[in-house]
Amino acid sequence: MSVIKLPESIEDVVVNLLRLANTKLPQDIGWALESAAAWEPNAIASTQLGAVLDNVRKAGLLGRPMCQDTGIPVFYVKGGYDPSIADAIARGVERATREIPLRPNTVDPLTRENDGRNLGRGMPVIHHLPSDGDYTEITVLVKGAGSENMTRLGMLDPSDGVAGVMRFVVDAVLDAGGRPCPPGVVGVGIGGMADECVAMAKRVLARPIDEENPDPVLREMEEDLFVRLNGSGLGPMGLGGSATVLAVRIDKAHCHTASLPVAVNIGCWATRRASVRLGAGDAVYSQGAWL
Ligand code: SF4
Repeated sequence: MSVIKLPESIEDVVVNLLRLANTKLPQDIGWALESAAAWEPNAIASTQLGAVLDNVRKAGLLGRPMCQDTGIPVFYVKGGYDPSIADAIARGVERATREIPLRPNTVDPLTRENDGRNLGRGMPVIHHLPSDGDYTEITVLVKGAGSENMTRLGMLDPSDGVAGVMRFVVDAVLDAGGRPCPPGVVGVGIGGMADECVAMAKRVLARPIDEENPDPVLREMEEDLFVRLNGSGLGPMGLGGSATVLAVRIDKAHCHTASLPVAVNIGCWATRRASVRLGAGDAVYSQGAWL
């Protein structure tokens, strides 16, 4: 995992986070793409993966965003709640949009008006989470519309059980087809209430895919879904092949006895993320967090 020391003003930190997330694919995602390319038997799929890897290398070398859809940044702030942090994050987003530059993606949902700053009502999206130590950690996930538009929530019948959950996830990914630019990471939330379920499915995309899920039941479900989805034949960009997903990440929360919510949030091959830990010493940057 790459670690870089950079200045500590929150506005600067946000610009650095967005530059890191948009121009450098996290190492774990890069390794998974390389290993998928190495064992992919389908010629078209192999060409697609080669083009993706070439693009990622060039973006890193040139310091340019790896995809034209620089997405909408979703921030997770762990610990150290300070009301002024939201303003500082917004200033950082506006500056990053100008300086990196990022595509201005944020519009009014009805008028479709775009002020060019990636800001607006409810933007940037910031979630506050409790910290387990004496530090503040800021993580950003960058979500493009191709993958975000494939988000699905199901309020299953509790009697559907684990088999129903597995079926729901497989159907969601296969129905999405090539639109979320596979292979990527499939985020799954199980339980909670509807809003928390969807939030969980996105939050787990921040977790490095080379770190095991500590819950053995969820780990087994992740492995089972990984095998099923990669055996589906959907393949890179939905054009056929073996590499449909790089990983499945699942989290769960307790829910009402009469409910079984399941949500799927897909991360594309460009599952972009970056984190920074701010404490007593220098800011420490990395590209994955266990949220
Ligand atoms: S789904 Fe991902 S890789 Fe595809 S266009 Fe959108 S941001 Fe880019």
